[in-house]
Amino acid sequence: MEIVEAMKVIAIPQLSDNYAYLIVDPASGEAGIVDCAEPKPILEAVEKEGAHLTSILPTHHHFDHVGGNEELLAAVPGLTVYGYDDRVPGLTLTVREGDAVRVGSLEGRILEIPAHTTGHIAYYFEKERAVFTGDTLFAGGCGRLFEGDAAMMVQSMQKLRELPPETKVYFGHEYTENNLDFALTLEPRNSALQQKRKWAAQQVAGGGYTTPTTIESEEETNPFFRWQSEELRQTLAEKFPDLPMDDVSVFAKTRSLKDNF
Ligand code: ZN
Ligand code: FE
Repeated sequence: MEIVEAMKVIAIPQLSDNYAYLIVDPASGEAGIVDCAEPKPILEAVEKEGAHLTSILPTHHHFDHVGGNEELLAAVPGLTVYGYDDRVPGLTLTVREGDAVRVGSLEGRILEIPAHTTGHIAYYFEKERAVFTGDTLFAGGCGRLFEGDAAMMVQSMQKLRELPPETKVYFGHEYTENNLDFALTLEPRNSALQQKRKWAAQQVAGGGYTTPTTIESEEETNPFFRWQSEELRQTLAEKFPDLPMDDVSVFAKTRSLKDNF
């Protein structure tokens, strides 16, 4: 029986706290890079893997996610550059919800998850149970609402919440400790959250990463996945007695508190 290795994902630190992710298909040796700010460490990882880079998979147009595209394209001509719109430098293939993405024999699809930017997308590999969420979903947090509102972000979060719980979530920034500190101000009695905060501190102290997380872990710990949490709502109701307790209002208040945390 032939044993086919699963998709390999390598986190590559970029700038001060960003992650790019090299996706390698062991069957074909093809690779794609999710986000690119600094090509040098990406090219080193490609070489180390003995892989053949064929595509860039940008999550959104912010410079810390696409700022290295042109330089990478110059180094590796002919790459397919996916993206939602031409704010992505080097764009070659415009994609929308449900469109296919291929890295060798690996097949993913696009999820539109707007609100941080209107063109923010995730790359979801269903068979491999992996999703790349850029600056929309972080471990313990979510992106700021630069181009959308709370209602739009709740929809995007809801779409991600519906993925299988074991799905690995590869996110765009190492913000986890700060995110979990904030989360604890809203749910100080959440034991899963307390545990994850300790785990994150150990990871970071040991020079490690907190990526990937999982949908299940976010359901247990992330206040931006937990607008229905009783404890979170109780904390908000005590601090803001006039706050309407519908999902969008709870989410919007949580987001504005984090903006000022
Ligand atoms: Zn961003
Ligand atoms: Fe970012």
